[in-house]
Amino acid sequence: MQKRIDVGSEIDSQCGRCKLLLNHVVVAMVGTEPRKVKCLTCQSEHIHRVPKAKSTSSGTKRKAGATAKAKSASSALARWQTIISSWDDSAAKSYTIYDSFNVDDAITHVKFGRGGVIAVPGPDRIITLFESGEKMLMQAKKRP
Ligand SMILES: [Zn+2]
Repeated sequence: MQKRIDVGSEIDSQCGRCKLLLNHVVVAMVGTEPRKVKCLTCQSEHIHRVPKAKSTSSGTKRKAGATAKAKSASSALARWQTIISSWDDSAAKSYTIYDSFNVDDAITHVKFGRGGVIAVPGPDRIITLFESGEKMLMQAKKRP
């Protein structure tokens, strides 16, 4: 049983800015799937992401703290797989150092392939995630 989701519906989505699972409103759909959502907390629009726990998961085990370090590498890959699972070529931007990017933008890089922006630590740099891992890249450079 699934309730009908459409543009304007409120759904839970993982907010890249708030770093939490929060209430979002759907702003764009692809078929029957929410594609873009707007965070009701920080008002940022981003690609809809659900936490990886799906109906197939057999019970969630939580070990507080102990596995946090080991998890960060695999969660980076999991996050990349989430980006790829909702990949849409028409929504992806080609990376150049002259453009500006936002958290959750899907980007293609000539060397690293498909990935996403996971953080914007400064006006001239972004942290991106590709299959090969996290990369710090320049952005918003002045064109020569
Ligand atoms: Zn947010």
